[in-house]
Amino acid sequence: DAPQPTYKRVMLKISGEALMGPQGYGLHPPTVQRIAREVQAVHDLGVEICMVIGGGNIFRGLAGSAQGMERTTADYMGMLATVMNALAMQSALEGLGVFTRVITAIRMDEVAEPYIRRRAVRHLEKKRVVIFAAGTGNPYFTTDTAATLRASEMACEAIFKGTKVDGVYDKDPNKFDDAKRYETVTYDEALAKRLGVMDASAIALARDNHLPIIVFSLDEPGGLRTILAGDGTYTTVK
Ligand code: UDP
Repeated sequence: DAPQPTYKRVMLKISGEALMGPQGYGLHPPTVQRIAREVQAVHDLGVEICMVIGGGNIFRGLAGSAQGMERTTADYMGMLATVMNALAMQSALEGLGVFTRVITAIRMDEVAEPYIRRRAVRHLEKKRVVIFAAGTGNPYFTTDTAATLRASEMACEAIFKGTKVDGVYDKDPNKFDDAKRYETVTYDEALAKRLGVMDASAIALARDNHLPIIVFSLDEPGGLRTILAGDGTYTTVK
């Protein structure tokens, strides 16, 4: 029998870079479709899904400001990049027959819905995948913080952070053969040891709201579904 989900409502956070596939930049449609199928597999189980996608495959505020751009302007460009990624994911999911809504933290009514909490909850209840775009709408934040904020507002049971590796390690597993994966890490440990789970403000917000962060590999086919059923390898930050 297929594993049954142990969660009712979750937040899935993926970086923008997860969508660029083998390219060094931008969107790689087969990769977007592959991730959409991962989401579909979980949606088919009846899990209510929120998503936040980063923008690092297109633009990062810090990179812009390092090149002399005004920081807040660069951050708004980063937020706009997340909207493009959200629309790409929406298109891929709807191509698979999964209904979605893109909700933006910065109003752009011709493109997507504005964020109205109760409306977003309603979409989830109707089993629409809700993709939260434009981060928090504020410069100086990241999409990790946006994912944690929306997960708290939507009363998600956990944040699933898809990465290139299957959890949190004591050192870079791509560089060190003896790197060890943690089964669980406390928020404070992740912060103190700078384990790179998420940025510090996101981890602190998750801690204050008792929201577990589950770090898993997005590269494993069917991985998200397996992890949601409590199987497979991952690290829980709690
Ligand atoms: N950003 C922001 N406020 C937010 C979320 C994102 O200003 O609430 C900007 C910031 O410039 C960031 C960019 O959007 O660099 C892309 O987001 P992020 O770096 O989190 O993307 P990821 O690394 O997950 O791809």
